[in-house]
Amino acid sequence: MMPMSGELSLVLTLGVMVGMAILLGFLFRPTGSADPCEMNCRAIKLGKKLGEGSFGVVYQGLYNNTPVAVKTLRRGTMDPRDFLKEAQIMKTMEHPNLIRLLAVCTEEPIYIITELMKNGSLLDYLKVRVGRLRLYDQIEMAAQVASGMAYLEMKNYIHRDLAARNVLVGENNVYKVADFGLARVLQATPMLSNQTKMYYISVGKAIFPLRWTAPEAIANERFTIKCDVWSFGILLYEIMTFGEIPYPNMTDSQVKQMVPNGYRMPCPVDPYCSKDMYKIMLDCWKENKYDRPTFKALKMRLRDVSG
Ligand code: AMP
Repeated sequence: MMPMSGELSLVLTLGVMVGMAILLGFLFRPTGSADPCEMNCRAIKLGKKLGEGSFGVVYQGLYNNTPVAVKTLRRGTMDPRDFLKEAQIMKTMEHPNLIRLLAVCTEEPIYIITELMKNGSLLDYLKVRVGRLRLYDQIEMAAQVASGMAYLEMKNYIHRDLAARNVLVGENNVYKVADFGLARVLQATPMLSNQTKMYYISVGKAIFPLRWTAPEAIANERFTIKCDVWSFGILLYEIMTFGEIPYPNMTDSQVKQMVPNGYRMPCPVDPYCSKDMYKIMLDCWKENKYDRPTFKALKMRLRDVSG
């Protein structure tokens, strides 16, 4: 064999290294989406409109021949990168009382594909059942929501927008918490929908559901699971009043001023609210957040309230 000159061997070594780098780059190239739950938007067939929420229109759809709900996000409501990060966490949350996130499509408009809940939002469900539900049914709704929230609490995850409009009703009296985590990535936009304007106020770059939010979260713009417990107390009020707006006779500025100064809604009288349920609401609205119960305790307590 001919001995190689120093220059030739250097050229050959460099050539081999470049070749290896190209081969490795090819083998470990990113294949399409970086996220396993991201999917091709064309795989979805959109059907009838189910409703409209804070983020955009929700449609019934078909995904892999399975009926699903498709939430479309209005442009500008959130940064797609922030949303995708949150969706990866949301995808890991699995509980019988939490809505399952099946897939997302992040080409704008963003689609969020979730399981379909036949009876729509708890708020609408309650409003058409005034006087037709028993206390037993109302306690059952509250206990199932507390159960889903106890799971989020255990996972150290905060909902930030717990309200009857964000609980969905399935068949056979199944209730599931929806939209957890989405409020974190929601941005204040000049194009808020009418529904959003009705429930949310802008605080800096974020928006808050004023009547459902604990006073300390509005004051310091920091959410904890204890703020979710406060919102759960408001959700109990919605359940017991068949979907009445909280603080019904007060303006937003009265709520903003009076609640931090100790004002609490009285026990609803018409329709009648059980004293046990009202006591739970008051515990959720304790001024010191550490005095509020955990969701785990609420779940057990609701199992003991007699209906
Ligand atoms: P949202 O944007 O979550 O507030 O949803 C707006 C409306 O769409 C709700 O009030 C429901 O009526 C409907 N909706 C949302 N998600 C679902 C779902 N997974 N199944 C059935 N209906 C839904």
